[in-house]
Amino acid sequence: MNYKRFAFAIIILLIILTGVYFISDINNEEISQINNENNNNIAVKQSEGSEFLMNTLVRVRIHDENSEEILEGALSRIRDLEKVLSKTIEGSDIYKINLNAGNKPVLVDKRTYELLEEALFFAEKTNGSFDPTIGPLVTLWGIGTENERVPSQEEINNTIKKINYNNLALMDDYNVYLKNEEMSIDLGAIAKGYAADKIITYLNENDVESAFINMGGNVSVHRKKVDGSLWNIGIQDPDRTRGNIIAAVKGEDISVVTSGNYERYFTENGIRYHHIIDPDSGYPAKNGIISSTVISNDSSYADALSTSLYIMGVEKSFELVKNMDNINIVLITEDDKAYVSEDLKDKITFTVDELEVIYK
Ligand code: AMP
Ligand code: MG
Repeated sequence: MNYKRFAFAIIILLIILTGVYFISDINNEEISQINNENNNNIAVKQSEGSEFLMNTLVRVRIHDENSEEILEGALSRIRDLEKVLSKTIEGSDIYKINLNAGNKPVLVDKRTYELLEEALFFAEKTNGSFDPTIGPLVTLWGIGTENERVPSQEEINNTIKKINYNNLALMDDYNVYLKNEEMSIDLGAIAKGYAADKIITYLNENDVESAFINMGGNVSVHRKKVDGSLWNIGIQDPDRTRGNIIAAVKGEDISVVTSGNYERYFTENGIRYHHIIDPDSGYPAKNGIISSTVISNDSSYADALSTSLYIMGVEKSFELVKNMDNINIVLITEDDKAYVSEDLKDKITFTVDELEVIYK
C-alpha cells in the first residue's frame, strides 16, 4: 500500500469511528454509514441498476443489507408486468384484448384486470379526458414512431368515434372485452405508475431500508434517505433541456409524476404536436398547460392524473383534485405561471425566477 492509499484508509477509518456520515448517491455497491434508531453506525449497502422496460429507462437504487437481491427482485417485477401490459409484445394481455376486439372476451392476469379497473375509474372521474381506449388515436398520430404525421380532419373525425371507455367491458372471472373491432387499449398513461406501486409493495414486504425509483421521470421514493433526511425530488423544467429542474419537492414515501409536452413530440410548420391526446378534439391537448405534476403516495393515481390534468386545464384540474386525499399538483402554463396546491407551500422550492407562482 503506498502512502496516499494508507492516508486515505486512515481518514475513512476516522470518519467511521467519529460517527461522521458519508453518503454517496453516485456509485453502485457503495457502503454508506447511517444513523440507525439506536444511534449506532451501521453499514447499509447500496445497489443501483437500470434497464429499458415499458418504453422507458427504469432506474432503481436500493439501500439495504440485501440490496443486490432486492434490486433484481424489483426489476424482475417490472419485466413481468411489461409482459402482460405491453400493447406491442405479442401474447401480452393487452395485445390479446386488442386482437380480439369485437370478437371475443380474453382471460387476463389479475394485475391487468386490476389496472383496467383503475383506468376506468379515472375515465369516469375525468369525464373521459383520460381514456384507456385511446389506442386508435395514438396509432393515427404515431408520435414518437416513424409514422408520426398530422392526420387529416376527416381521419381524426373517423378515429374519435372509436374511442369510448364505455365499450371496454370488464366481465366476471377476469375476462375483458372490447366491444368494437376497431377499438384498442393503450395504458401508456398509467402503467408506469402501476409498476412503481408494485415495486413499492415489494420493498415494504421486504422491509427495505430506503429506495429511489425513476421510470423515465416518474419518481417514487421508499421511506427516507439513509441519512434520515427527506428526499428532494426535482421537477423537469418544460422549457429547458433534460436535467434542468424548475422546482424540487421534499418528502418520503411519495411519488412525483410529470406529464409534459417535451416528452414525446414532433414539430411541423412551427407547431409542436405532443403525445397527450384530447379524446374530444382528437388533437394533442392544448389548454395552456405545458407540464402537469402530481404528487401522491400512490404512483398509478399520480400517473393517471398527471396525464388527465394536462388535458383538462388549470381550473378543471383544481376542481377535480380538491376533494381527493393525498393529491397535490403543480401545473406549469405556457405564460410562465405555476399553479400549485396550497399544501405544498412548505415542501416545494422553485428554482426559476421568471416563474409566477400561484398557490390555490
Ligand atoms: P404520460 O406520459 O403518463 O402523460 O402518458 C402519455 C401516454 O398516454 C401517451 O404516450 C399515450 O400512450 C397515452 N395517452 C395519450 N392520450 C391519452 C388520454 N387522453 N388518455 C389516456 N391515455 C392517453
Ligand atoms: Mg401519466
